[in-house]
Parts: sequence; structure tokens; C-alpha cells
Amino acid sequence: MKTLRQLFPPYLLMMILYVQIISLLLNYDIFDSRELVIYLCWIPILTLPYYFFGKKVFYKIAVTVFFIEGFINLCHLLILKGPITASSLFVLLNTNVNEAKEFMELKFSWLFLLIIPYFFFGFIAYRNTYSVRVYPKSKWVVMIVMLFSIVFLSENLINGRLTRKAIPQTAKALISFGEELKSYNALKKREVANIEAELISGESKQHLFVLIIGESCNRNHMSLYNYHRKTNPRLEKRNDIVAYSNVVSPYSNTLSSLLSGLTESNLENKMSFDKSTSIIDVFHSLGFKTFWLSNQSPIGIWDNAVFNLANTSYVTIFVNNKGNTSFESTYLSSYDERVLQPFCSVLDEKAENKFIVIHLMGSHSAYAKRYPSKFDKFTTYNSDKERIINEYDNSVLYNDFVVDSVLSILDSYSLGDRNIISSAIYFSDHGENVYDENNNVGHDYSGSLPKSNVEIPFIVWLSSGYQHFYPDKQKTILSNKERPFITDDLFHAIIDLNDIGCEEFISKRSVFNKDFDFARPRILEDNMNYDLK
Ligand SMILES: [Zn+2]
Repeated sequence: MKTLRQLFPPYLLMMILYVQIISLLLNYDIFDSRELVIYLCWIPILTLPYYFFGKKVFYKIAVTVFFIEGFINLCHLLILKGPITASSLFVLLNTNVNEAKEFMELKFSWLFLLIIPYFFFGFIAYRNTYSVRVYPKSKWVVMIVMLFSIVFLSENLINGRLTRKAIPQTAKALISFGEELKSYNALKKREVANIEAELISGESKQHLFVLIIGESCNRNHMSLYNYHRKTNPRLEKRNDIVAYSNVVSPYSNTLSSLLSGLTESNLENKMSFDKSTSIIDVFHSLGFKTFWLSNQSPIGIWDNAVFNLANTSYVTIFVNNKGNTSFESTYLSSYDERVLQPFCSVLDEKAENKFIVIHLMGSHSAYAKRYPSKFDKFTTYNSDKERIINEYDNSVLYNDFVVDSVLSILDSYSLGDRNIISSAIYFSDHGENVYDENNNVGHDYSGSLPKSNVEIPFIVWLSSGYQHFYPDKQKTILSNKERPFITDDLFHAIIDLNDIGCEEFISKRSVFNKDFDFARPRILEDNMNYDLK
């Protein structure tokens, strides 16, 4: 017993357990009991020098290391209500003064008082050093304890997952953060640019435009686009949307698709994304307050550049900070409805004109992680392939709920007020092959690009205020809904929809324009013409 008490000093254990209990209470869903095992392995390793040499300083060093680790984790838990991860550190690092102010006002709570007991536990753990005398009889206890620690840690080390699976959360977050920071710093930090732009009409009105960016949504799995399963019960009922039927994405990956859609760069001019004017620059130059709300991971080789663009917005809110890498985030659940509450707060904020981007996790693999059990509607299967299609379709069904909710919130905000001119576009960054072609799943490909990788939904919503103020635009939007469009020119369509005048705008590139060039060949990233595929 005494040996165990020396290897696992009770006050030190209490201090560590205190943080774990708070983590469990605050965030029951994502509490990981593995964390306790990890601590039990590391405690004897750090207290062993004290055990052998009997010098109190070794004990005090061990307590200090655990105290700092726990303190960082506890502060993070109390502020962000979730365990510390590389993603959350990344977001904190990129938080500007405006956001920090709004953020702290939002997050301050009496929960912070929970730090006081932690200091108390830390203090008594530090003070209570134990008398150390090694009893020959109890050596086997040391052996067993150490063996357990060493086997656990070396098993993870040999399998190359020491950082991922065998060190405490805070250390893991700091290490992953350092690695991510290296690749992020390799990017040139993007600054918002000022251009010459004006609202052509309606200056006396309040303007609001919402861009909902979906993820990996193949429209052929949407009943709104005639899929045989009812995956769009809500959007199908809406009579205030226009579903464009022939829209494709230029690329089959998030990064290139979004950067080409949100900037003036396109498949013909092939301008560098870094040097192209972005749609955020345009709205910023008009004096709109710009927001970027995201449920995607802020970090990762694919996400860093999007994060960089997002950060040129006045306010950015990343609600999904659970992962230490973007890969890890895709295997954790962070349901898209988490963006609805910040969306409502943002709508309530005082600002004349607003541009709000909502970036969803949509149907990103792993599909089963994208929807709560309530949306587990398609469940019968006879093979793995059928199970995966079910999971994908369930994620599309949940996406129907999320997009419909955003539109309903926007509708009730704009309802009956003809002084608010609001509109929204929902589209997906690219499609997804869910055994639609080549007996394959995902959005990567080899050889020729499958059509399902680029066949995306593209939906326009207009408020009654918009329809009243821009009857001609509404007419063109309706009459062009069968036109073939490719979203590298989304930049121009958004400028047109919002009736903005600027030098960068090219009317024949806007699918909402009477001059739209519908004969433009749609050459995809594999250099093949989509319409000849
Ligand atoms: Zn994507």
C-alpha cells in the first residue's frame, strides 16, 4: 500500500482527477476515459526518481509538471467547454481583437471559480511529500506498475501512435499544434484587400447575403433532384427556393473548388488564388460586416488555406475544435446544427449590411459521423456497400434539415420587412462518388474524373423583400435554372445577385445574368469537357 502511495501520491491523483471530473461533467459526450489510463501510466514514470532517490525535489518537479498541464487543460475546458486540441489552439492564436472581445463577453461565466479548488489541490499536493523508505517486500509492486506503464507506452511507440494515443491531451495538443503551425506558416498570410465597389441600387435598404457551403454532396442522392429515396423532405416542401439542375464544381477537392469559387480566379485565367480578389474583399470594400461560421476543421494541409481566406472576414467562428489534425476531425462527430446558434447571434448583431458564410461538414466521410441517431433512417443492408450508401443518404437527410433550418431562420428574420433585402445560396464544394460509378467511394479518383464527383446541388433563396425590389433579377434567376454552370464563376454570380458594381465583375460569367454565356465549355480538372463525358 505504502509503495502504491509513493508511486501514486493521493494528493497528486486528486489534483489530476479534479480536472478529469470537470471535463466529464462539462462535456459528457466527448469525455475519453482513455485519458485516465494515460495518466496512470505517466504518474509512476514521473514519481519514480523520487521513489528511488528519496529527494523531495523530484516529487516537486513531478507535481509542477502535472499542475501546469492540468491548469492549461482546465482553463481551456472552462472557456471553450471542451478539451484542449491543436484546432482550438489554432483558432485562439488567430483570434483578432474584435473577436476576442466578443468572445470573452460571450463566454465569461461563474464556472471560472472552479479554478480556485484546483489551486488548493495543487498546493496540498506540492506540500505533502511522503517519507520515502523502500521496503524490499514491496519491490514487486513497483515492478508490476512500471511494467504496465512501459508496455502501454512502448506498444504505442512501436506502432507510431505515441502522440496520438498515449500522452495527455494538453501535451498532444501542443505537439500537433507545433506541427500544424509549421505548415500554416509556410502559407502567406492573407490580408483583406480594398477594391473599388459600390451597391448599384438599394443603398437605403439593409442588405444581407448568406452563402451556405456544403461538403461532398452529390445531388443525385437528393430527392430534390429526383433521387428515389426521400432525402429532402424539408427542402422539397419549400416554395421559396430555386434549385439549379445542371451545376458542376470545377474540382473534386475542397481547397481548389472553394478558392476558385470564392475568388476571381477561374479555369481560363488560372490566376493564383493568393493574388485574386476574393468575394470577402468585395463585401468588405462595400462596408458590409463579414462573418465566417464554420463546422469544418481549421487545421490540416487541406484546411489551412481555407482558414487563411476565412480569416480575412471581420469575425470568424470555428465551432469544431475537437481534432488535433484534420484527419482526426473527420472521424469525430460535430453535427452541423452547431452553427445555428452562432448564426442567430450574428443575425442579431447590429450592423447595416452583412455577408455571412456558413461552412458545413455536410457529408464528409466518415458519413456515419455526420448525423445524430434521429436521422438514422436508411438502415437495412445486405452488404458493406449498401451500409455505406445508407450512411451517406442519412447524412444527406440530415443536411436537408440543416440547410432548411438556416433558410427558415433567415426567412423569419427577413419576414415582412421589405427594407431587408436578403438572399442565400446553398451549394456543395464538390460531389462524392458513393458507388455511383466505377464501384468506388470517395471523391478522389484516378484517370478520368467521375461525374458524381462534381455533380452538385446549387440552390438560391430570395426573401420577399428581394423579390419586391429586384423583380427583373428574380425573373432571370428563375429562367436560368436549367442552364449549365460551373462554380469557378460563383464569384461573379454572387456579385450579380447582390447588385454590386465593380471592375472585377464579368456579366457573361454570372449564371444569374441575361448575358450569361451558357455555351462556355466546362473543362474539368482532368482536362475533359464535362458535357462530353
Ligand atoms: Zn470537400
